[in-house]
Amino acid sequence: MKKSVAEERGLKKIYEGKAKILYEYPGDEGKLITYFKDDATAFNGQKRGIIMNKGEYNNAISASLFKLLKNNGIESHFIDKLSDREMLTNHLKMLPVEFVVRNTAAGSLAKKMGVEEGVKLPYPVVELYFKSDELGDPMINETYIRAFDLGEVKDVEEAKNIALKINEILRDFFDKNGLLLVDYKLEFGTLSGKVLLADEITPDTMRLWDKVTLEKVDKDRFRRDLGGIEEAYKRVYDITSKI
Ligand code: ADP
Ligand code: UDP
Repeated sequence: MKKSVAEERGLKKIYEGKAKILYEYPGDEGKLITYFKDDATAFNGQKRGIIMNKGEYNNAISASLFKLLKNNGIESHFIDKLSDREMLTNHLKMLPVEFVVRNTAAGSLAKKMGVEEGVKLPYPVVELYFKSDELGDPMINETYIRAFDLGEVKDVEEAKNIALKINEILRDFFDKNGLLLVDYKLEFGTLSGKVLLADEITPDTMRLWDKVTLEKVDKDRFRRDLGGIEEAYKRVYDITSKI
């Protein structure tokens, strides 16, 4: 793995996840350095691999999309891009929830509702999952938040509303650039009581299809061994680098 600038400077690792490493930011506990790895996992960590240069693409793609959202009135944890694989963010109190937004039926939704993959939904669907690798991220709803003390219900409701606003901005952006935003995952946290978008927005966390050919331009190429993985990430990088 390419050494991070944070590691070279001897900064303390706070957390290492499947795709990213969080480092302390010297002299300011309110900030974090996020390092994007090339490591790829799927099916709750059962499939593992490396996608060459993914860290660089995902850092740049996330930074650009956070900027696009900011220009459209959505605040996030993003402060600045520090290096090819690192960004500076605010350190948030994370909601232990993954918000999945869906515009087109794919994967488990198509199966569950008995529709063909690719059917466009007239209204977006938002699903909540409890972030827990041990439990395999079970689906939950707002009543679980209160019953299992997972956070403030009002924060989750606010995050859900922000997710729907984000959806309009991202869907339009990708549509104008030849891609269909099928579905994606967002994470949110709070800073001084304010709900902010966090984590990443990348081909690791989105399903993007070519509008004409319906070819997959995201991590499904890795999940399903379709090849052309790096090219897919590069295509999203090229599109977002114009922001
Ligand atoms: P995972 O934990 O699922 O393996 P990652 O490798 O992407 O995922 O690790 C990044 C971790 O950092 C995630 O657990 C995510 O919830 C957390 N995170 C993202 N943004 C922030 C932030 N601004 N402040 C604190 N934690 C964050
Ligand atoms: N997703 C993600 N991380 C997760 C779970 C889902 O980034 O831990 C994203 C995934 O990339 C896809 C969407 O959320 O864009 C829906 O994924 P899910 O695993 O729910 O797939 P499905 O149920 O549709 O097969």
